[in-house]
Formats: sequence, C-alpha cells, structure tokens
Amino acid sequence: MAPHATTPPPMPHSTPIHPITVFASSRAVVAGRLTEATIVVSNVTGKITSLFHSVLPPTDFPEGTSYTDYSPNILLPGLVDAHVHLNEPGRTEWEGFWTGTRAAAFGGVTTVVDMPLNAIPPTTTVENLKIKIEAAKGKCWVDVGFYGGVVPGNASELQGLVKEGVRGFKGFLIDSGVDEFPAVKPSDIELALKELKDSVTTLMFHAEMIPPITDSVGDDVQRAHPPVAPSGPLTHYSTFLDSRPPSFETYAIAEILSLAHLAPELQLHIVHLSAIEAIPMLREARAKGIKITAETCFHYLTLAAENIQTGDTRHKCCPPIREQSNQDGLWNELLQDLNDGVIQTVVSDHSPCTPDIKLLPAHLAPKKPSTRKPGHDKDCNSCSSSEGEEELAEEKGDFFSAWGGISSVGLGLPILWTEGTRRDANFSVEEIVRWCCKNTAKQVGLEHSKGDLGVGFDADIVVFDETAEFCVEPSTMLFRNKVSPYQDKTLKGVVRETWLRGERVFTREEGFVEKAGPKGKLLLEPRKVVQ
Ligand SMILES: [Zn+2]
Repeated sequence: MAPHATTPPPMPHSTPIHPITVFASSRAVVAGRLTEATIVVSNVTGKITSLFHSVLPPTDFPEGTSYTDYSPNILLPGLVDAHVHLNEPGRTEWEGFWTGTRAAAFGGVTTVVDMPLNAIPPTTTVENLKIKIEAAKGKCWVDVGFYGGVVPGNASELQGLVKEGVRGFKGFLIDSGVDEFPAVKPSDIELALKELKDSVTTLMFHAEMIPPITDSVGDDVQRAHPPVAPSGPLTHYSTFLDSRPPSFETYAIAEILSLAHLAPELQLHIVHLSAIEAIPMLREARAKGIKITAETCFHYLTLAAENIQTGDTRHKCCPPIREQSNQDGLWNELLQDLNDGVIQTVVSDHSPCTPDIKLLPAHLAPKKPSTRKPGHDKDCNSCSSSEGEEELAEEKGDFFSAWGGISSVGLGLPILWTEGTRRDANFSVEEIVRWCCKNTAKQVGLEHSKGDLGVGFDADIVVFDETAEFCVEPSTMLFRNKVSPYQDKTLKGVVRETWLRGERVFTREEGFVEKAGPKGKLLLEPRKVVQ
C-alpha cells in the first residue's frame, strides 16, 4: 500500500470507490506562502485531509485515485468575496443567485457574502432573511453567506439575525439609493452597538456622511433646488467626484469612532473605503484598541478619476473612484503592513443594475438594453414601453441620476494580478490570497473552513494560470447585465478550474458542470468565538 493512501473499502463486483482526490503542483499558496504541494481531499466530506509540501507522484496513492499535477499552474484557495449584492428576490433583473454565483465561480470565487440591501425585501428581519434563503435555494454555484441590515427601528431583530447565521451587519450613514433601506442616524448606531456588543459578529458601515457645513451635497443634489446645485455639468466625472469629497468619509468614520466605546469587544468594519484621508484616523483608533478594520475594492485600486470619460457612468459608485494619487495611497497601505494594516481586505462590492438605469450613452450601452424598472417583474404593466420612454428623457451619462454600483464579481483575481504586477514585477499572488481569501474569510467568521489550503479546510481550490490573458467582454462577464468599467480591458491571469468542497464546478475549457447542477451551500451556521 502506498505510504499516503487512505484505504478504500473493498467493493467486490463493482467499480471501486476511491474516496480521495489529489491535487499537486510545484506552486500552491498554503498558509499564505507559495510552496510545492500535494493536497489530499476527501470525496466524502469535501475537506482537505492531508497536505504535503512537495509534489508526490501518483504512485504514492491507491491505483485509480483521481490525481492531477497542475504544475506550473498555481493552486490557490477559493476567493471569499465578502461584499456582493445579488439582489434576489425583488430585483432579480439586476442580478440573481444563479448568474451572480456563476460569475463568481468563473473567476475562482468560491464564497460570496450577500449584502442586506437591493433585494426586496431587504435582510433586516429574521422573516426577510428566510425569504432570501428560500430564494437562494438550489441556485448557488458557490457557497453563499448573508449579511443582516441595520436600519432605523430594527434593533430588536439583530439578535435573531445573529442566531440565524448572518455573517455580519451593515448600515448606511448616507442615502443608500433604495427606499427600503434607509440610512441610520447616530442614535440608531448607538442602539445597534448596545444590541450587538456581546455578539460574535461584525458591524459594518457605509461610511459617507454629509458634514454639517459644506458646499457639497452628494446624491441629495438630485432632489435639491438652487442654490444647492452641483458645481459643473452632470455628465462630467469631476462634478460627481467634487460632490462626494473625502470629508464625507472622514466625517462618517469620526462619528462611528466616537460611538465605538459603547461596544468595545465588537468588531467594527468600514466597507469600501475609498479616501486615503481616513487611513491615519483609523490607524490611530486601532492603536488605541478600537476593534475596527476596513476593506477597499478592486475599482479603487485600479481605476482613476483622471481617466474616466465624460458620461461613462459605468464608473459611478459611492464613495467615488478618486484620483490616481489616492489609488497609489491605497496600494501603499495594503502593501506596507502584513498583519496590522488598516485595510485588510479587498472585495468587489459587485453592485449591478439593468443598463437602462445606468443611463449609459449610446456608445457604451449593451445592444439590447432592458426597459424593465427596478423591482418590477417581467409581467409588470407599469413597465410598458411608454414608461421606458419616460426614462429615456433623463440625460444619458448623468453621473448624479445614474445608479451607483460597479459590476466585477469574479474578475477580482485577474484585476489585482494585472495591476499588482504592473506596479511591481515582484508582486506576489500571496498578497491577493491574504486580502481576498484569508482575511475576507476572517471578516465573516469563516476562518476555520475557508480562505486557506490547510488540513480541515473546505477543498475550495482554484487552478490559476497567471501568465494567460483574456479580454473582458460579454462572454467573460457572467453576471446578468454585461455592463462594467472593465469591459474591453485585457486582464492577466486566467482561472482554469474552480473546485468547491472537493467537486469541480467550472473549467475554462469545458465550462460549468451543468449535469451536476449548482452545488453551493448556504452558510448559515452561526459564527463562533475565535480561539
Ligand atoms: Zn455594496
């Protein structure tokens, strides 16, 4: 018997069952480091059962064992995208569990965590979470976790949501863009902090707030009358950028920090940090012992305000994509400190919508734009063509009226690899694993099962060809609406295969394993205290 074999049970007169699958490569990221590796996976549990820091030959395993040496491709843990809006139910024409998770699997993302807003109903009560769970069942190609929402008046729901297994909570300090998910005031934050102070969870904030004295009014300008008005043409990106200055972020973060003492043990987190001006204040707070981290997004690390063309609303998101110098500052923060930086995770904030409400100019619009309105199903009478014409009356390319959100789920690995290696030829994929696997798993309480290739972890394995390139086009954007600022860009790094808990779900050559169907699990086990 081979030295590393797990003995299969004898099965006379039938095909022998080999209960392990073996992955080998001269390069794998294990415990954060590139190494040679042979990874043995149980076909029964879908977990990694043993791991060797060398490439063992197939003869070390029982005859007939599924064994593949993927060298020179790199084996990575599946990415955990801790910030995704899947919008189902209620706005399934924007995105859905089926399309969003296929887009994730295509790009090596094996876990996504769905934000509590943009679906209808929002995930702000236990009852609403159950509606979302029903909507997700049987449609997920990767594992899916859920956040709960913090809105005015739902403090009494928060404990129940913790018990039902939400991975954390999110609240907005500014208009969220959808009516059913209103922003919280400081008094609501106080209530949430008191309610969650002893819970094992993460309380996260969309940290933009309109400072009390300012010329800028952000998206409120849409409803404002003169003299409160934007400073230039609404189709110019600079007008939009000026309307949401860094002070919106720093003011909101100062507000959160001023309340943090109410829940000293609770992990706080700033979603999609954009402004580098917020970094020193967060660093100082952490030095004082406040448990607060931040994430940034693929777009803040790779796109820059200077390059955004007039009317190209594919780039609209909040907080906004800032100048090149800001992008450089975010990279410096990410790279400078291995374990104790302010920004520990990088996520997509995949937040799509139908092309019509992006108000794209004709040259940027996909060929057949949908005329359906958000939240309305396909049979909705009010979405007739006359309604569509009314929408067309809005100015195309208006950064203020366009929906804010960028589509990129499943593109993050090549986006970061392309930009990281452009900045530094020695950039290591280990960094991406730290930001997008290990630390994102930790952010949502999955650090014992996701985010690493280690014994006992789920065998979520990505085969990454870091030298190949591809063009972002409709065939490589698997999310529902093919609108993204990355369109027509060439990215370096191709995911050859994606495995979820020991089962192959996608290969670049053959596509999805359609016969087996979606195998994603809903991650609803309540978070545990980290030992
Ligand atoms: Zn978001």
